[in-house]
Amino acid sequence: MTRRVCKLIGVPVQDGSGRRGCEMGPAALRAAGLAEAIASLGHGVADLGTLAPPPPLPASYPNPVLKNLPQVAAWVDKLAAVAFAESAEGMPLFMGGDHSLSAGTIAGLARRAALLGRKLFVLWLDAHPDFHSLHSTESGNIHGTPVAYLTGQPGFAGGLPQLAATVDPRHVAMLGIRSVDTAERRALAGSGITVLDMRAIDEHSIAPLLRRLLERVRAEDGLLHVSFDVDFLDPAIAPAVGTTVPGGASFREAHLVMEMLHDSDLVTSLDLVELNPFLDERGRTATLLVDLVASLFGRHVLDRPTRSF
Ligand code: MG
Ligand code: MG
Repeated sequence: MTRRVCKLIGVPVQDGSGRRGCEMGPAALRAAGLAEAIASLGHGVADLGTLAPPPPLPASYPNPVLKNLPQVAAWVDKLAAVAFAESAEGMPLFMGGDHSLSAGTIAGLARRAALLGRKLFVLWLDAHPDFHSLHSTESGNIHGTPVAYLTGQPGFAGGLPQLAATVDPRHVAMLGIRSVDTAERRALAGSGITVLDMRAIDEHSIAPLLRRLLERVRAEDGLLHVSFDVDFLDPAIAPAVGTTVPGGASFREAHLVMEMLHDSDLVTSLDLVELNPFLDERGRTATLLVDLVASLFGRHVLDRPTRSF
């Protein structure tokens, strides 16, 4: 990756996850040395601090199980504005916070891409497709809905803010998927989204799958946003997440993804989401995330410190 100026933006939202703890995510990533790791690789770093929770919006949607909709709608609205403004220059890195934050960050980035006349591609690293609508969710946790919202699927009117620009579903690729609800499976079929589940990774290995995606982004001169949910990783190496699903990406698979993203020089923005420090073991998940971000910013295997747990 060529030299960047990375802007760290803390987003202490936990209203979308249905449990407490994600609001401590930005503090844990700072304590684990995120800024120092990026700076040590020769990039500029500006820590813009942690956003204050916005006042709730008068949002409503006729699904009684929805949790904290006015709070999440307010975060989405605020983050869309912040992401649009901060993507004018430098590389924004949003430190979550639960995955509902991506409904806001990517909304702002899509608006930026539209203004630039570029295509926004999204790489969704997650155990889950997060493709519920406000109508289809049974848990009521809005962190399970951002991809459907951002790609302009029905089931959000009145609930989440109107999008200035949607993301073309053909420009969304999901990697690491291994937990899909029936309504999501139905909605994903024929959506145009590329879904690479853990079986695809097992059968073909991660490198050729990712290489093909990156070649597409390059061929179309796209901007590439990476949305990294901690549960993309196997819970054995990353326990600090409220939605663990066995059979996730291994330590090496995750580093390889980040190393290939680094080599591609295509990534223009990043979300790090769902870190719940309350569930961590002596900071090991936060530390792993920092090491993975270091790989994205150009740390090589030969400079990686050996860590013991
Ligand atoms: Mg997610
Ligand atoms: Mg997930």
